[in-house]
Parts: sequence; C-alpha cells; structure tokens
Amino acid sequence: MRDSRQRGETENAPRPIYLDYQASTPCDPRVLEIMLPFFGERFGNPHSVSHRHGWDAEAAVERARGQVAELIGAEAREIVFTSGATEANNLAVKGAARFLKERRPHVISCVTEHKCVLESVRRLEKEGVRVTWLPVGGDGLVDLSRLAAALDEETALVSIMAVNNEVGVIQPIAEIGALCREHGVLFHTDAAQAAGKIPLDVEAMKIDLLSISGHKMYGPMGLGALYVRRRPRVRLEPLFDGGGQERGMRSGTLPGPLCVGLGAACAIAGREMATEAERLTGLRDRLLNALQARLSGVSVNGATDRRLPGNLNLSFAGVEAEALMQAMPGLSVSSGSACTSASVEPSYVLRALGLSDAAARASVRIGLGRPTTEAEIDAAAEIIVAAVSRLRAGYAAVAQ
Ligand SMILES: *Cc1c(COP(=O)(O)O)cnc(C)c1O
Repeated sequence: MRDSRQRGETENAPRPIYLDYQASTPCDPRVLEIMLPFFGERFGNPHSVSHRHGWDAEAAVERARGQVAELIGAEAREIVFTSGATEANNLAVKGAARFLKERRPHVISCVTEHKCVLESVRRLEKEGVRVTWLPVGGDGLVDLSRLAAALDEETALVSIMAVNNEVGVIQPIAEIGALCREHGVLFHTDAAQAAGKIPLDVEAMKIDLLSISGHKMYGPMGLGALYVRRRPRVRLEPLFDGGGQERGMRSGTLPGPLCVGLGAACAIAGREMATEAERLTGLRDRLLNALQARLSGVSVNGATDRRLPGNLNLSFAGVEAEALMQAMPGLSVSSGSACTSASVEPSYVLRALGLSDAAARASVRIGLGRPTTEAEIDAAAEIIVAAVSRLRAGYAAVAQ
C-alpha cells in the first residue's frame, strides 16, 4: 500500500494511464445506462410477489440471469447470483466439499489459485478434508498427468482456475473437465478473469461449477455469479442461512440494479468477444515489441501461446518492480495481484512458476482493457522505457 503522503502528492496530477484491467474494469457506460432506472423509479424487491414493483424487478433479474447463462452455455436456472467471485468461489469449494465430505473427503486444487480459492481449500483442510495441491510448470499450466494421478475414489472436487489473474495463462479447462467427468468428480473453475474474454461452454468443457465477477468484465462491482449444474444435479451446502433465495443456495435479497448490470455486461461481452480479443492481442504485441526493441532483459512470465489477450506479466532484469512503479506515476500497473499487494512478499504465483525471488520482485503485471487505445499503449511504452533506463543507469552509477 502507498502511504497517504504519496497519494496526496499525486492528487492534482493528470490521471494516469490505467493498465491494470486484471485488478478491475470500469463499468461499461452502456451497462451503467441500463442499470440506472433500477436505482430509481424501477426499484423494488425482486422477491416481492404481491405487487407490480416486485414483479417488474423480478422480470428484469430473471432476464439478466438468462443473459449470464447464455455467455457460458448454461440455463438461466443454473445461475446463482452472489456478491462477487470471492463469494462464488467460497460457495462452490466449501459448499460442494462439505456436502460430500462423508463419502468423498478429498479435494484437488492448484498452487496458483486466487487467494479466495486457496484459503477456502485451506479451511476445508482444517476441517479434515484431504487436499492435493497441484504444482504448475514454468509456463504456469497444470500437468494433466499429475491431475489424473491425484484423482481417486474419495475425490469430491477439483478446483482449477480458467485464467490466472497475475500471469493470464489459460488452463486446459476442457481436458480437465473431461478427466473429472470420467472419474465422476465435480469440476469447479474460477472464471473471474476468463468470462467474457475467452469462449466458455459448460457443456463442451464439462464444467459443474463456474465463478464469475462483475467488475472484471465491465459490469458492476459487488456482484458475481456461480453456475451450478442441474443435470446431473450438483448439491451445495449454503454459506448463509436466511430466506432461502437462489434455490436455497444463497439467501439474501438480490440487488436488482447490479443483476441487471451483470446481465447487460454478459450480453455485450458475448457479442464483442471475438473482435475485442483480436484488438487487445494486437495492442499487447505492439507494447511488448516496443519494449523488447528498446530495452534488454525484458521477459514474459508464463505461457505466451495460451494467454488472455490483454495480459502481460513482464520481468525487467535488475529492476525492482516497486521502484519502477514509483518511477512511473503516470502509469497504473501492479506487481503481483491487487489482493496481495499490501504485502512485500514476492508473488506466490511467480514463485510457483519457478522464478527466483529477485526475478519475481522485478515483475510487473500489465493489463489492457476495453477502453485501452493505441495512443495509450505508445505513451505507456515511452514511460516504461524511460523509467527502466533511468533506474538501470542509477543502479550502474551506484555499483561503480
Ligand atoms: C478478482 C478475482 C477474484 C475475486 O473476485 P471479486 O468479485 O472481486 O470477489 C477471484 N478470482 C480471480 C481469478 C480474480 O481475478
């Protein structure tokens, strides 16, 4: 965390170029417009059954549910709205494992998962569930033969993310799904970084549980969704007790405006995914080429061929990421992930890929998004080249 003094100094400066779209995305103006009436005259509790205010809100929420489902090849009634992907992941991992704990007290996950999956699985471990942690290769991907070897007749659940939030690598989801189905094991995937960015199909990929986050896909913050397969039916132990909303899996009043927003965000993402992926891939390659042409010692962390279109995770040899970010107040990028950046520890994800402490500390995550323009990419390249050159010159002078 930056201290408040540093924040104060930059308050009046021009707004930096934002290249941290894996941390959060702005709500698309089209999504915002669709949401607004639901904060105003179309308010109403979607669970009120006795008047038009309730029916109107319910109809809008159910339409949104269908839009979320359509993006991933599911049915509307298989979507459970949650407060975000953190809750969806907690519900999927704890809910499924606790329901099956007596007969199947074993869970498989991966060391590069988001903290909310890691900590949910660790909680289960404390409750007596046996856990197998899969490592990743230098490319950030799980090894399918290791997964196959870890599956046994006690395995309840495999939880492996679709796209990593730090290095952007895309796991072999369809292959993992096929393997799990073959063994009669539930497959959950954290798709917070994948939904709306790469094609996902719960049928073709044999996914049983899938988590989505609104603010990672140009929808509202504070809303997510969990896909829960109905055929064959996946049973979950709920996290909350209450009115039994969302088919008993998630009690609590649905936030109508946010649900409508997530639905709209999914509809837009579905329509624009292919062209946007191509555009972002082009801009990302443009940035990487510019940096590698003008700087030595720039390497990409994680697989380059199986990667989210808008993600780069770069090591700048000999440069501390913290110093680099301080030297670039005009550019919003991050080291590690937003959730763990309060700590000074190097990223556990990069360490799991086999990077040394020093290489991990020299790494910066750059995330391109829907608002990113070519002009921003060219300006960002200038800023990074200047800062890295300046820092390296400074280190060289000290060393002499
Ligand atoms: C952001 C993120 C989450 C958490 O999502 P929230 O909606 O912010 O709770 C979980 N997993 C991954 C991979 C993420 O990128």
